[in-house]
Amino acid sequence: MKNHKTAVIGSGPAGLTAAIYLARADLHPTVFAGTTFGGQLMLTTEVDNFPGFPEGIQGGELMDRMIQQAKKFGAEILYTDVTKTLLSKDSLTLFADEKEYTFDGLILAPGASARTLGIPSEAKFIGKGVSYCATCDGAFFRNKEIAVIGGGDSAMEEATFLTKFASKVYLIHRKDSFRASKIMQEKAMHNEKITIIYNSEIVTVLGTDKVTGITLRNTVDNTERDMQLDGVFIAIGHIPNTAIIKDQVTLNEQGYIIPMKGSETNIPGVFTAGDVDDAVYQQAITAAGEGCRAALALEKYLEA
Ligand code: NDP
Repeated sequence: MKNHKTAVIGSGPAGLTAAIYLARADLHPTVFAGTTFGGQLMLTTEVDNFPGFPEGIQGGELMDRMIQQAKKFGAEILYTDVTKTLLSKDSLTLFADEKEYTFDGLILAPGASARTLGIPSEAKFIGKGVSYCATCDGAFFRNKEIAVIGGGDSAMEEATFLTKFASKVYLIHRKDSFRASKIMQEKAMHNEKITIIYNSEIVTVLGTDKVTGITLRNTVDNTERDMQLDGVFIAIGHIPNTAIIKDQVTLNEQGYIIPMKGSETNIPGVFTAGDVDDAVYQQAITAAGEGCRAALALEKYLEA
């Protein structure tokens, strides 16, 4: 059994920022980066809203730079998935690659995954017209016609936000009413660039190299029709990646970590950062900020 001082689960902006701070504080972080490392930015193309990159930067390159920066200060990066955790006030133990690791402090930054429609054509067009983040990708759809899928607050907010760029936004929902809060529904409904299409779901995303349209099915009469579009924003919620910690760390009903005070969790020495505790903002820069905060809090905890 190998002993390390601190560990980070996750290699998105939260986890890698935490690793940079921990490494610079001589806390020898081991980052369990996962087999699909880098988090959700690996699924986007150009990132235009991360400060410091006025020309924009590819999501993959940004994450690669963060990994290089963490390594430069001595963080150990393991490209493996943590399969089990045993976290209590007495010990912090992680299992990965059939090995057992114990730590003095741990930062949980496993992120959340955008819920997908699960149709094959959706995956094919990620970064080529299919997006899960209006704030990240909206500006690429200036004067284009696009669709937003979903009926919650995210769909309302994203549809409204996207009217800043798009010439037309179709807000498509599988039911005949939205679950979003009244105030956000009304904002979307009163926006003249938004057309609402109820009782409809996407059967196929159409295109060759990039999205050119969708096939929609009416959920009431099962009829299908094609629509020409330049982009599809899927806003049907996120799933926090908390399966391995769910019986140990306090989570809310949706499975997000509930921070106790600042970045602290219910377990001493275990801190949280990024989308895993944030169902609302979910931005690379907010995740990075939380990673910094969690690392500083862990440093203070270990000093005490
Ligand atoms: P929600 O879980 O609230 O809504 C998800 C929506 O997606 C639902 O309308 C659901 O449909 C639909 N959906 C789910 N799966 C599918 C599918 N496979 N195909 C088609 N549609 C599907 O997620 P949100 O991301 O909207 O919100 C998450 C939380 O964040 C909420 O608590 C919300 O209030 C909050 N939030 C707050 C904001 C704010 O206050 N500014 C902004 C954004 C989010 P159905 O209704 O049929 O189940």
